[in-house]
Amino acid sequence: MTATAHALVSAAIYRSIPAPIISIPLAFVSHFVMDAIPHWDFGTDWRGRSKKNTGLLAIAETTLGITVAYFLFQGKGDALPLLSTIIAGELPDWLEAPWYIFFARKDKHKPSPSAGFWEKLTYRIYRTENIFHAKAGYPLGVLTQVVTVAFFLLLLTRSTG
Ligand SMILES: [Zn+2]
Repeated sequence: MTATAHALVSAAIYRSIPAPIISIPLAFVSHFVMDAIPHWDFGTDWRGRSKKNTGLLAIAETTLGITVAYFLFQGKGDALPLLSTIIAGELPDWLEAPWYIFFARKDKHKPSPSAGFWEKLTYRIYRTENIFHAKAGYPLGVLTQVVTVAFFLLLLTRSTG
């Protein structure tokens, strides 16, 4: 899903359970649960765009999403645990990024047999994460995402009152 979706749910997890030792792993796991719901994000149709544009879009959207989630869910003196929880919720996508950035190309879907260690490692991380990744086109995949985020936010904020 988009970085904004992950940031909002992660921040809500921290507000609901303000203990980093629980909220950080929970936010990390929530990433995979959310990505299992068919959705659209900037990674879905990256082959139809230049890599530079996808990268800039991803950086801009991630910065915006984290900022919005932070200001929506911040409390007194909890900047570090809140931000750590949000980052834990984004981390799976950042771990996938090296494959996209350094090795994937429009016409290249997997490493060649002669690929080096780093290429194979980054591809393995990417493949492992994508076992859980369900894709949907635009605009349906945006709708599923809005519904998913709304569901998690309601669930999490309800428990805190
Ligand atoms: Zn993801």
